[in-house]
Amino acid sequence: MNSGKIHNKISLYNTLTRKKETFSPISKKEVLFYSCGPTVYNYPHIGNYRAYIFADTLKRVLLYEGYKVKHIMNLTDVDDKTIRDSQKNNQTLKDFTEFYTKEFLKDIKYLNIIEPKKFTKATDYVDEMVDMTKKLLKKGLAYKSDDGSVYFNIKKFENYGKLSGLILENQKENAQGRMGRIKKDEYGKDNAQDFALWKAWDEADGDVFWETELGKGRPGWHIECSAMSMATLGKQIDIHTGGVDNIFPHHENEIAQSEAATGKQFVKYWMHNEWVLVDQKKMSKSDKNFYTLRDLLDKGIDPVAYRFWLLMANYRTRVNFVLEALEGAETALKRLYNLYLELGADTGRVNLEYQQKFKDFINDDLDTPRALALLWDVIKDENISKADKKATVLDFDKVLGLGFENIKVEKMPEELKKLSREREAARQNRDFKTSDELRKKINTLGYEVKDTEEGQRIYKI
Ligand SMILES: [Zn+2]
Repeated sequence: MNSGKIHNKISLYNTLTRKKETFSPISKKEVLFYSCGPTVYNYPHIGNYRAYIFADTLKRVLLYEGYKVKHIMNLTDVDDKTIRDSQKNNQTLKDFTEFYTKEFLKDIKYLNIIEPKKFTKATDYVDEMVDMTKKLLKKGLAYKSDDGSVYFNIKKFENYGKLSGLILENQKENAQGRMGRIKKDEYGKDNAQDFALWKAWDEADGDVFWETELGKGRPGWHIECSAMSMATLGKQIDIHTGGVDNIFPHHENEIAQSEAATGKQFVKYWMHNEWVLVDQKKMSKSDKNFYTLRDLLDKGIDPVAYRFWLLMANYRTRVNFVLEALEGAETALKRLYNLYLELGADTGRVNLEYQQKFKDFINDDLDTPRALALLWDVIKDENISKADKKATVLDFDKVLGLGFENIKVEKMPEELKKLSREREAARQNRDFKTSDELRKKINTLGYEVKDTEEGQRIYKI
């Protein structure tokens, strides 16, 4: 960008305008990118991870096209859920949330997600949240309730509902022209009300509170992201991502409080990924129909296979999770790895024709299903050299993040070497019965034998 480089056109679907738009960042220097991160009160389920894999893929596309990207992700370490569950576990909020933060960071690595430039913890930005609340009070857009909590008056923000398409006209308001109010962090569209910016302390909060100019209390969940985004990226940013369930109320409220405070457009491109379903229902903690990454690891499934499976669908379509489908994806991924290993040690040049097609796909609102199909085409193409295929696969993988560059040929265990030699000899003697028995023995060690023109090859299953 600052080098005067011309980028290929990238189109992205913007939830705000409900159409695909050509990406054009606010600043020439770098793309300002914020992702709503996890609430660190439990192990996220794999449906939650779709949001982080989507954000990572988007970031990789921008990097691939030569943009500099400043990516921030928050960690919600104080809200209704973290307080409730830390108390259940008899732990301090800090100890409790630190544990799940560490687990989350491990999962991110398993999924080949590039770490954001910074993870912002909500508890590190309480001063900024208080300042923003004070500003909104001063402007008359927020008000204090009897218990000392501060609420945002949604009727005072003309564009309330612009992201989610919510129309307030028919909703009841009271004598002061207010909507009634809700102190809870999560609520539905049919329950749109004034939401809490600051929650005055009550007994249920236990020892979780800050003594501030707003009184003793804690921030509401929605203002956390606005304050952290502004503190790290500035008043206006390019991209803000999250799952579709963040659109209302979380992102709608973020827009209201941020734009009311600054008088400027908060985010240029709002982007959201769809749900992961189980039996056609949303995977969720409350329905107990979820898998965690640990469940997959316990079943011996490589978490990257989950990433691979998700990339087979566009991020804006709902996917129905079935364990057998994931196992099928893992088999396909291993097959790709094996074919990649067969390409040998030399890396040649990226095939430019394939690269152009790849760019056309990923720059079209992240069309990863077609990009993956193209990856298979490259690997199967007889007309390009192995070395060039290898370079092209590695080039695509900058976006796909399937970890090809880290695949190594494993050292064969001694017993396997012995069995392999015996089988080779049996085949040379055309003793297929022994050769078959030896194949089974090799299988029991967790390896698979394939007979090729250049002799037998052994793969880890
Ligand atoms: Zn958020």
